[in-house]
Amino acid sequence: MKENWVDTDLQYIWHPCSQMKDYETLKPIVIERGEGSMLYDVDGNEYIDIISSWWCNLLGHCNPRINEAIKKQLDTLEHVIFANLSHKPAITLAQRLSTLVPQGLAKFHFNDNGSGAVEAALKMAFQYQYQTGHPERQKFMCLSEGYHGETIGALSVGSMDLFAKIYKPMLMETVHTEAPDCYRCPYGQQRDTCQCECFVKAEEDFAKYGHELAAVIVEPLVQGCAGMRMYPPLYLEKLRKLCDAYGVLLIADEIATGFGRTGKMFAFDHTSVSPDIMTVSKALTGGYMPMSITIVTQDIYDAFYADYGEYKAFMHSHTYAGNPLGCAAALAVLDIMEEDRVLDTAAETATYLHEQLNAALGNHPHVGEIRHIGLINAIELVKDRGTKEAFDSKQRTGYQIYKAALDRGLLLRPLGDVLYFNPALTIDKKTLDRAIAKTVEAIGAVIG
Ligand SMILES: *Cc1c(COP(=O)(O)O)cnc(C)c1O
Repeated sequence: MKENWVDTDLQYIWHPCSQMKDYETLKPIVIERGEGSMLYDVDGNEYIDIISSWWCNLLGHCNPRINEAIKKQLDTLEHVIFANLSHKPAITLAQRLSTLVPQGLAKFHFNDNGSGAVEAALKMAFQYQYQTGHPERQKFMCLSEGYHGETIGALSVGSMDLFAKIYKPMLMETVHTEAPDCYRCPYGQQRDTCQCECFVKAEEDFAKYGHELAAVIVEPLVQGCAGMRMYPPLYLEKLRKLCDAYGVLLIADEIATGFGRTGKMFAFDHTSVSPDIMTVSKALTGGYMPMSITIVTQDIYDAFYADYGEYKAFMHSHTYAGNPLGCAAALAVLDIMEEDRVLDTAAETATYLHEQLNAALGNHPHVGEIRHIGLINAIELVKDRGTKEAFDSKQRTGYQIYKAALDRGLLLRPLGDVLYFNPALTIDKKTLDRAIAKTVEAIGAVIG
């Protein structure tokens, strides 16, 4: 049975973000069904989904209440053109989110995937500057090691060579400022106590390029794809000030951090400031439906508001923008988070998870640090704990551990040599215990 599905898969399907040749030794796992934090394949093997399926599954697989909400919506309205026409789920969702997003964010532009939301944010920032008397502000600044998606615009403001290198001739020119690197801080500081000494790099780059920047885009507090690199809220507060001083917009890409991943609803809630533009996707629908939103301040919205003949409108659309099924799922997510006080329970689970991980792996000779925020815990594996020297990337240590974990029923999928937990907020302690034990075993099987 399994062989049939696997062979047919490999005959036809080109999987995302994969070297397909790797599938010769690690066959695709054909998943039959999901329940809570568990996935079951066609042969009845089970896997703990400790990465919540690319960070989007927020409240468990096949959550009965989200399932019900989508089914109900499905029998009412499945999709409708979102220009001129509207529908209750989108209207209700925007209204409810407006009370939850960082202060000042007021208008909701719907889209159907994360990269699309980033593209919209970049175009909005560019056009905003143009329409408010700053046509010279054409460039974007981003952080080194940043990730904002894989379409051409989003890739241009990303810094990870893994995704972007080959396409460089196709990309727009952007300014990359050095991101905080708290684990290997060049200033010898600690993440919890520093004054963001590293911010001097952003100041230098603003002094050079500030007058020609349209916007800066960041992944607030957690640089996900770079290996869950975490930095303090103070950095964002300093960046806000700097942006204001130079008339540069601040774009918060909360696609990975939104909806409780960092312990608060949004990563920016850890700060005393707000971005001008915020993108959300991934957990927005509980990981059910492709949907994203680019959320902006009234000020930005107003810069596009004019008589038709002035041609100031934002001409950006995706066919499935504002899909009602996605909105229904998102509304169910908000209901559940509120009714079940999910953030409160998740905070308690998060404390437990970090303590247990620390107890199990904190002293391991190849564990450099276990950084954490909310339920996200990232275990950085190194060759030498003292010098923080990394493993030779050719050894693919993380990948070997990934395979060893799969053999043990754990979906761990590391980022390079950084193993991480980013589970559903509703995961229980027992499942976490099992996941930790499997992680320890998998690490042991590969690097001792
Ligand atoms: C996943 C992600 C994106 C891209 O979203 P897609 O839906 O995969 O296009 C953009 N930014 C961040 C921070 C992400 O984590």
